This record gives sequence, C-alpha cells and structure tokens, in this order.
Amino acid sequence: EDFYGFKRWGAGHFNVDETGLVTVHPLADARSVAIKDVIDEAADMGLKAPFVIRFQDLLRHRVEQLNKLFRKAIAEEDYEGRYRGVFPIKVNQLREVVEEIVDAGEQFDYGLEAGSKPELMIALAMHEGADRLIICNGYKDQDYIRIALLGRKLGKQIVLVVEQLSELDHIIELSQETGVEPLIGFRAKLLTRGEGKWATSTGDNAKFGLNTAEILFAAEKLEKAKLTHCLRLLHFHIGSQVPNILTIKNAVVEATRFYCQLVKMGFPMGLLDVGGGLGIDYDGSRTNFESSMNYSMAEYARDVVANVRDICTDMGIDVPDIVSESGRAVVAPHSLLVLEVFERINKRETLGRKQRPKRKHKVVRALETLAKNKSDLGRLERFHDAVQRKEEAFSLFNLGYLDLENRAAAESLYWQICEDIASENSETGYTPEELHELSAVLADQYVCNFSVFQSLLDHWALGQLFPVAPLHRLDEKPSVNAILVDITCDSDGKISTFIDLEDTKDHLKLHPLNGQPYFLGVFLTGAYQDIMGDLHNLFGRVNELHVFLEEDEENGFYIEETLPGSRIRDVVAGVQYQHTDLCRRVKQQIDAATKRDEIKPREGVRWLEFYEEMLETKTYLRVHPEPKGKK
Ligand code: PLP
Repeated sequence: EDFYGFKRWGAGHFNVDETGLVTVHPLADARSVAIKDVIDEAADMGLKAPFVIRFQDLLRHRVEQLNKLFRKAIAEEDYEGRYRGVFPIKVNQLREVVEEIVDAGEQFDYGLEAGSKPELMIALAMHEGADRLIICNGYKDQDYIRIALLGRKLGKQIVLVVEQLSELDHIIELSQETGVEPLIGFRAKLLTRGEGKWATSTGDNAKFGLNTAEILFAAEKLEKAKLTHCLRLLHFHIGSQVPNILTIKNAVVEATRFYCQLVKMGFPMGLLDVGGGLGIDYDGSRTNFESSMNYSMAEYARDVVANVRDICTDMGIDVPDIVSESGRAVVAPHSLLVLEVFERINKRETLGRKQRPKRKHKVVRALETLAKNKSDLGRLERFHDAVQRKEEAFSLFNLGYLDLENRAAAESLYWQICEDIASENSETGYTPEELHELSAVLADQYVCNFSVFQSLLDHWALGQLFPVAPLHRLDEKPSVNAILVDITCDSDGKISTFIDLEDTKDHLKLHPLNGQPYFLGVFLTGAYQDIMGDLHNLFGRVNELHVFLEEDEENGFYIEETLPGSRIRDVVAGVQYQHTDLCRRVKQQIDAATKRDEIKPREGVRWLEFYEEMLETKTYLRVHPEPKGKK
C-alpha cells in the first residue's frame, strides 16, 4: 500500500521496501538506496539530522532526461533546429550541484543561465565548451555587461538579454568602447498570463521585459547603432511551476509570433528561449492545481517544439534553436530534507485528562450532559453546543465566576466531545467543513529539530506543499494524526498543510514515538529552498550529504562529501558578533562573579570552557546527547 503517495509524486524515484524503509531510485530503475542507511552511515560519521541529502545520480538523471526528451521531440516532429537548454543557477547555486549539471550536460551542450552579477561570475568560470550557451537575465549595470563582454572575448556564446531599454543603451556604449560585439536577446513581456503561485512574471505589470512598443524602439536603437546582426534571441518567462500545459502552449505561440516578426524585420535571430516554468508534480495529482501539473516533461517538450514549428511554418520562417531555462524540474527531485521528530505534544493527553472540581459549576454540568448524550443530537449540532458552552466558560472565568479547577474541567470536557465527534462516522457520508477542521485541531504536534524558515521557506512564504513521509517503519500502520512544528520561537514555524493523501490535507498520519529516533523526509526540496532560507532565531544551514551510487554493487552507495552545517560562531558572526569578543565579555563577568565569591575559580574556568565549546557546536538541538566523556 502506497500510503504516502510515493508512486504518485515520485516519478519512479521513490519506493518502500519490504522492511518498511523508503528507498530512492536515482536512475528510476531497480537500483536503490535506503535513506535510513544513509542516515545511519552519517551518524557513524558524527553527522545528525537535520540534514539535506543530495542524490547526485538523480540530478544527472534529470539533466539527461530533459535533454533526451527534447531531442526525442525534435526527432519525432521533424524539427530542423536543435535544443540548447541552460540551467538557471538561481534555482540551486551550490557548486557541487552546478558542477554535476555542467558535467552531465556536456554531451548535450547544456549551458547556464545567470540572473545577477554573482551568478554570472559563477557561470563564466564554470562554463565549458564553445557550443554551450550562457544566457544573462536580470537587471544589469555596466559591470554586469562588461563581464559578459569578457565572456565574448573568451569565445563564449554569451547572450545579454535586454530586460529594460536602458540596458540596451549601456550594451551599445560598452560594445563600442571595448570593441567587443555582443550577442543580444530581447525579453518579451507576453500578455499570456502564467498561472499558479508564480504567475506575476508576465502581463503588463511584470517587473521584467519589453512591451511591444519597447521592442520596436529597441530594434530601432540597434539599427541606428549598426548592431542589427547582434540580435540573436527572443526570451520570455511566464513564471515558475506553471500547472497548466495550455498556458505554456499559448505563451509559446505568442512568443514565436514575436520571434518571426523580428526575423521579418531583418534581424538574424536563431534562438527562441522559452524560459522556465516546467513544473514538478509535488502532490502527484496530475491536475492544474498549484502543487501539481497536468502534463509530463515529455508532453512539455513536444508541445514547445510542435508549437514553435507550426507558427514558423505558418509565417514562412526557418525554425530557431530552442532554449529552455528549466530549473525546478531539473533540480527539485534530487534532494530531500531529513528531520528528526524528538517530541510529541499530545493535547488530548493533557487537556483530555478528567478533572473533578470539588464543586461543579453549572456550565461544567451542561458540558457533562452534552458529553454523555451522544446519540440524541447530530454531530454538527453537538459541536455547536459544545463551542457555545466552552465560550461561556471562558467568559465566566474572565469575569471571575469560574475557578481554575472548573475551567480545566470545562476544557477537558470540550476536548472529549470534539474527539467523540471526530471519531464518529457521518450519518450522510458527508463531513461539513467545520468538522473537517476538527481533526486538524485535535492532531498532535510532532516537534522536529529544524527551522521552516531556514529549510522550507516557500512553505512558510507561499504555502508551497512538499510531500512529507516517515523514512522507516512503513511496515507498521501509522496511527497518530499529527502536524509538524519546528524549534523556532515562532508560531508560523510549522507544517500543517500537506499534500492530499487519503483525503487528509490538514494533518499527516504518523507512527507513535517509541523511544527510538524517528525520521521524516521532506521530498522534492532541491529547487530554491537551499538558498532562500533565512536565519530566523539564528538557526543556520543544516548538514549536507552528497550521495552517489556505488558502481559495482547492486544497492550500494557512498557518501562522497559532507558539508557540515553552520556552527553557532558562524551565525553570530553573520550579525557582527566576533566569538572572541563574546568570550572575552563572558570571561569578564565570570571573573567579577568569582571576585564576589559567587562562583569558585575552578567552576568559573569550567563555565567559560563550556561557553567556548558551545560556540563551536551546531545551531540545532542535540536531541540525543552523547554519553559523558564522548564528544
Ligand atoms: N528563467 C527565469 C528568467 C526565471 O526568472 C526563472 C525562475 O523563476 C527560471 C528561468 C527558472 O524557472 P523554473 O524553475 O520554473 O524552471
């Protein structure tokens, strides 16, 4: 039974073995790695959750898959151009990720995209091969343009995509000044609207791109500067995670028309860049809802190729080489976040404990009657009555008419009634919305050693859903309804909406804690999450493990590299505290306390040593402290 939907959203990369362990299939074939084995090996190396595990073979597989599917579509559609994709560095800038992608992309002439000066600096250095593109997007100052021109000097096919008219003036000036001929692209502001959470990248109010009048004006500028032959590319981007293939088709049609018009105006062109937007099916529903997509990567490639071809044929124009800047689709599946649950907050256990006030207040007796007479009233009516009584009890307490014991009794009875209502089957087979919410309210909180703000920022900021599942014990039936909370002092630091599994979205079914470590995986987190995280409460970067399949063993793996997470001294340095200064200040205070005889000198030394040692430790909790004497 695929309780957590691995087969639905896993694209062939995730499964559960007969011992209840979650396995990763980096190449979507029979070879697999049990994630729990990686966790155990990391523990032997002294690394503990939370961590990010990267499956580098999976990353390579996705690069190959995207390129092969475009090549296949091109062959099937008799398309006369090539696919020349680029990886947008912004989606995951980590060197090991970019290196793997550059290496995997070599046979496909797969290039890089930069959206800022720092990213361009990376792209310029990491890029290899004369036939691979570098696409330069984002706002550009003169330094940005100069660096791109350096790339031209080095023989690279580096295209400066004009997002704003003023950039074109700078490109013209600097190319005249340096004598280097640029390759230029225009970013068109399409009217085809994106859909989903990232839809604002198009339309009249989009931050980027040239509208039709500006494109004509820019074309004139190029002609005047005698740089007509430098315009090679038309670019658009309608936002990330486009859930609906129809939106993509429409955008491709609109952009190809722009492209053909520019060719007709006498520009050489040759490249059409369809931007990013290729989605990831985070919930496996194959729908056009935000967390999903109603198309496959193969369909995307076919639709882009076929629509470009159709419009070009219609306009009598040679087809361009197709560039896409798919980031999310390439990197999201390759990494997962491993969390350890270390505590269960069980509201029902405490709130539901029977309270026996010495003198029962009327309102408590009313709630008792409600709790006893289960079958008299319908579920919804009983719920409303219970809410009314609970509110009455609160008012009485606030006005001083209810003592603590009676308040506790009222609360406990209210929770008992709610639990009864939630566990009863509906008479009509339909559960009203208000009662749906009950199960979420009643769910336990599983406290996980991590920060949503550091590791899953899009979940907090945009409500993006990621699949979450235990990484072991899947041969046991999960019996606890839970939501996940993190260790930040922020009530937003939680995961309380999940992908739709067996009709539950507001809680996850998990296993009861049994005193042994319990690990959860948050999957498909390889795109954007690594870099967007912040240091809320100064919880820093988590440990990272880079895992490769072992060549000759059927299910072997090795951890090629570990990147230790931030230490406390690293994160405090980020906000301008030098660890030496902190130690000096604490030492002064310990010395003063010693002088006042409040701390013994020997004890003072031990406290200072402890403070200094702490600065070298990780920012997350040590939930399983090592036995004394062992570090
Ligand atoms: N290209 C541009 C210009 C972008 O702004 C983005 C991100 O939004 C991308 C490519 C990558 O998009 P995706 O991750 O959806 O493939």
